[in-house]
Parts: sequence; structure tokens; C-alpha cells
Amino acid sequence: TIVNCPLLTSQRRRLSWVQLAGHKGSFKAGDEGSILKKFSENEKLCFERLKEDALHSFVPSYYGVVERDGELFLKMKDLLAEFDLPNVMDCKMGVSHANMLCMAGSLPAETPVLVVGLHPVRVMGGAHEERERPSYNNNNHFLCTRSQNLDAHLVRQTQGVPEGFLLTHILLHAERHFVQGVPLLTQEVKTYLEDELVRARVKPKLREDLYNKMLEVDSEAPTVEEKKQKAVTKPRYMQWRESLSSTNTLGFRIEGIKRGETCNTDFKKTRSKEDVIQVFKDFVEGNKNITVIGSSLLFIHDHTERAEVWLIDFGKTTPLLDGQNLDHYRPWEEGNREDGYLLGLDNLLQTLSSLARE
Ligand code: ATP
Ligand code: MG
Ligand code: MG
Repeated sequence: TIVNCPLLTSQRRRLSWVQLAGHKGSFKAGDEGSILKKFSENEKLCFERLKEDALHSFVPSYYGVVERDGELFLKMKDLLAEFDLPNVMDCKMGVSHANMLCMAGSLPAETPVLVVGLHPVRVMGGAHEERERPSYNNNNHFLCTRSQNLDAHLVRQTQGVPEGFLLTHILLHAERHFVQGVPLLTQEVKTYLEDELVRARVKPKLREDLYNKMLEVDSEAPTVEEKKQKAVTKPRYMQWRESLSSTNTLGFRIEGIKRGETCNTDFKKTRSKEDVIQVFKDFVEGNKNITVIGSSLLFIHDHTERAEVWLIDFGKTTPLLDGQNLDHYRPWEEGNREDGYLLGLDNLLQTLSSLARE
């Protein structure tokens, strides 16, 4: 499908600004050469840490939190600003995360889980207070069972914190790993950053819109039961999507491309190496001089042979605990937090170098 690119403003300079992924409306134009992305505490912390990191020169410059029309935003460099009619490609890095959502959602109801929030968490008041009082709460650690839903009361009752703000780790069998108030993160299930996902996992909501999206791509995809209820859950939808694309096999997938005047975000079924190579070829328009490489990786080039690759999108990147190590290649298993980032990068490099060799 070819769609029109959403434009931020009608300013001439910005006519070619494009958003290839994410929710519509999560970006606004900033002043000269900057853009505003909807605030997330997690991404803010990431930008702050990246300032001191070896990777900082591959990340868009970050200018802090700003308020616009009563809403908070992260201000950062507009990576497209210095290009002339840029071509843009967003590759989402890493292996599937939907699996984790599904798995956690299928925990037996009384499994003890520990929710570690960045901020004080209050328990819901009223009738639920007695029944759902967590067995442990020292401001940012919160032990409850699976049935004491980790949904609205956790997320909503957090004082003064915007929606989706709560950073939570969810641990299995937390009691066993609790030493003098210090949780040991040995059985982590998944790091949740968005209350939408927390809710999707705990109380799977049937989504008719996602069912229809699924049908559009493959009318045979829904199960008999899903067809009957004309709806699917979000984790199911995500897992299905990731099985279609190259996420599971190559460790990255193409989210969207803008070439010339047109945007294409329909790469949901671009799965095989050959398909990916073809898309890359089209993107660089056969120009070998610009097959360079540098969350998502954002590839940008224009007719002047200016070409750049940037690390973007840290909405779901969280720090590891002291002593934890990832190799970014091993397959994901419960608790290992592996993301397959370097696996994806290797495959991406291979794909690009096979282009250069041709
Ligand atoms: P999602 O998590 O669904 O991928 P998101 O809301 O976290 O989306 P990003 O992935 O950060 O948003 O960005 C979405 C799109 O916006 C990118 O694909 C890219 O086209 C554009 N974009 C993001 N950051 C920049 C930037 N600094 N300069 C120029 N374009 C950007
Ligand atoms: Mg993204
Ligand atoms: Mg994101």
C-alpha cells in the first residue's frame, strides 16, 4: 500500500519530514532543526544515560524535556533537517518480544509476582483495598499475586505520573528471591513499559480492530475461535505479525521506507533474506556509494550521496542491573532478557555487504 506521508507542518523546510513508525500524533515539530517526541520516562532516562555512553555520537542529540500545549515531550535533533528530500528507512532491531507477553499472560493466577516500579506505587483504595493489599510494598517494590491484577490500580494510582510512565519489572516467585528487601532479578519475565501492554497481558482484551488488520493481510490467519469471536488479543496479534516478518529469523525487520514522495509501511510480510535484500536495493536505488551502516536504526540518504545511520527509539530500552550481562545473540529465554540486537545487526550488515558485492 502506498500512503501519503503525514507531514508535521507545512513549512517548506519540513515538507519532507516523515514518521515511518509509531502512533500518529506522537511527534511535533520543534524549533529549527528539532522535533518533539511524546514524553516517556524510560526514553528520557535512556537519552540521559546515552549522553555519557560510547554510543552517544550515533544517537540523535537530546535537548531535554519540554512542555507544549500542556503535554510533555522529549526534544531531540531532527535527523532529516540537513538532508535535501531525504529517503528514509526504519529497521526495527531485535528478536520477538511478543512471546514474552503471551507467556507472562498465561501464568497461573496465584503465581507470586514482584512488580518493581521506578516510582512510588499506591494500592487501589476502596473495596479492593483489603483484598488486594500487596504483601510487600516499600515504595517502589510491590509484591502481589497474578490474580491481584497488575493493571489499572498499579498504573493509574501512581501519583502524578503520566499514563504509561510506570516502569515495571515483573518477577516470578519473587518471595524466594527476596533478600532483606533487595529483589534479585533472577526470574524476570518481561519489562513492561506501557500500561496498555500490561493490561493486554493481564486481562487480555479482545480487539476487533486487530482482528480486521489480521484478516487484511491473511484471511486464513485467525483461528476458528478467533473467527467466531471476530477478535484477537494484542499479544496474539503481535506474535503473529512477528512470525510474518524477518524479526524472528533475521533479528530485524523493516518498518517503513520513504523514497521520493511516497511512503511505504507495508513490509509486514517481508520475511526472507532475498525479499529484504530486494527492498534494500530499491532503497539505495542501486547506488553502491551509499550502502553504509552505522532500537530502530534509521537510514537516511539523499541525492547528494549524503547517507547516515542513527540509533533511534529508546522507548523500550531499560538499564540492566549491576552484574547482568547480555551477549545480544543468544535466543531469548525466560529471564535472560536477551534481545538479539547484535544478531539483527550482523544480519543487516551481511545483507548490506551482499548488496555492495553485487
Ligand atoms: P514505535 O515504538 O512504534 O516504533 P515510537 O512512537 O517509539 O514508535 P520512533 O520509532 O522513535 O517512535 O519514531 C517513529 C518514526 O519517526 C521513525 O520511524 C522515524 O521515521 C521518525 N523519527 C524518529 N526520531 C526521529 C528523529 N530524531 N529525526 C527524524 N525522524 C525521526
Ligand atoms: Mg520505533
Ligand atoms: Mg518506540
